[in-house]
Amino acid sequence: MPRFGMFPAAFGLFDRGSTLKPFEYLAPDTVDEAVAILTDNAPDARLLAGGTDYLVELKHASEVPKVVVDVSGISEFKGIELTDKGLRFGSGVTHTEIMESDLVAEHALAMQEAALTIGAVQTRNLGTLGGNLVTCVPSVDSGPVLIALDAAVTITGSKGIRIMPLLDFFVGPRKTALEPDELLVDIVIPKEMLGRGCSFRKFGLRKGQALALVNTCASIDLDAGKLADVRIALGAVAPTVIRAVKAEKLLNGKAPSDDLFAEAGDMAATEAKPINDFRASAGYRLDLIRTGTKRVLAEALERAPR
Ligand SMILES: Cc1cc2nc3c(=O)[nH]c(=O)nc-3n(C[C@H](O)[C@H](O)[C@H](O)COP(=O)(O)OP(=O)(O)OC[C@H]3O[C@@H](n4cnc5c(N)ncnc54)[C@H](O)[C@@H]3O)c2cc1C
Repeated sequence: MPRFGMFPAAFGLFDRGSTLKPFEYLAPDTVDEAVAILTDNAPDARLLAGGTDYLVELKHASEVPKVVVDVSGISEFKGIELTDKGLRFGSGVTHTEIMESDLVAEHALAMQEAALTIGAVQTRNLGTLGGNLVTCVPSVDSGPVLIALDAAVTITGSKGIRIMPLLDFFVGPRKTALEPDELLVDIVIPKEMLGRGCSFRKFGLRKGQALALVNTCASIDLDAGKLADVRIALGAVAPTVIRAVKAEKLLNGKAPSDDLFAEAGDMAATEAKPINDFRASAGYRLDLIRTGTKRVLAEALERAPR
């Protein structure tokens, strides 16, 4: 039986004379209950996990949904584990849990590098991986590592379960492949990607509490000393996270060198379409792509098993 209530004043949504309309608050304990609630109420229902994105949105929204569904108590959304498919993150895993996980440190260290750059301690304690991906801003910090490691997402809804590459899940700025009656259940890095050389760098205007001007990630394999299956993912340089496929092609099959990595950085910059805004010019962002790509490739190489 889902927990429920009205007017969740505990969220602090009614301060400063807000005229926010009331909504129903439901807190299901299982995925099945959550799907049933969404099926009955979509599209007039929204999910809430850690609330670090959604409560900010709700506070300033002119319209509120009929039902807010708090998924933070759903046990299927919790935990980081090794399965026969790979490293599984429940969608409700927090950034702090990622940072503190021995499994992540051993198999996908760059995930911890990315988690560490997200907001401040309080944001990381509440904010979840699933919420980060579903909000789907171009600067999403956990996206590039997961794409460089070929992660897949599991989605469930009234029509059943779907599994898709994270790259396809990101449809546009703040738009994912989720239907209104669907939930993100988990994210899996396939087992053949675990332990490969991988590195993440984020460039912001400050070292902490800053959105990415550019974030970069590379993962590589080595085959008889040559680069193999290189994956480069770039964030904040296009409507969604992109792979720099021309740069990857340039690298595959070649012996690694600083000059080659610099060339790949130049190539990656030609594949991005960064914007000019009050944080940085497009030209500065292109420079960051060149530098960041070169650095993550060099670090991924250092970490690649030989
Ligand atoms: C001060 C501050 C600093 C921040 N800094 C960064 C930063 O540096 N980098 C960065 O990437 N982000 C940053 N964020 C954004 C935010 O913290 C992250 O995106 C966070 O991971 C969101 O997770 P959440 O659990 O709080 O999501 P919520 O706010 O609960 O939800 C976010 C969205 O996801 C949906 N949702 C949640 N769970 C599910 C699910 N299981 N299935 C389907 N939909 C779901 C919600 O409906 C909502 O649309 C910052 C936020 C704040 C407030």
